[in-house]
Amino acid sequence: MTGQASHDMTKGEKANAMNQLWEKSKLCGICGKGLPGRYNKATTLDHIIPVSKGGTNKIDNLQLAHLKRNNRKADKLPHEVKL
Ligand SMILES: [Zn+2]
Repeated sequence: MTGQASHDMTKGEKANAMNQLWEKSKLCGICGKGLPGRYNKATTLDHIIPVSKGGTNKIDNLQLAHLKRNNRKADKLPHEVKL
């Protein structure tokens, strides 16, 4: 660790954060609707303040949310995606 807050989280860190957040709330932090499940691939860990804007990987900057598609085709609502 070099004091950089914005390293990529490891799988273990993500799983730990998701477990903690799941215990607090099972709702999407973005749309407020229920999430499909802790281990569902449509449930993702979301940074409230993006890392690129100085957000940290600490639990208070994280929330569970439906998977966003940041890459291509970001214009389609993720909630329309059927599993
Ligand atoms: Zn949502």
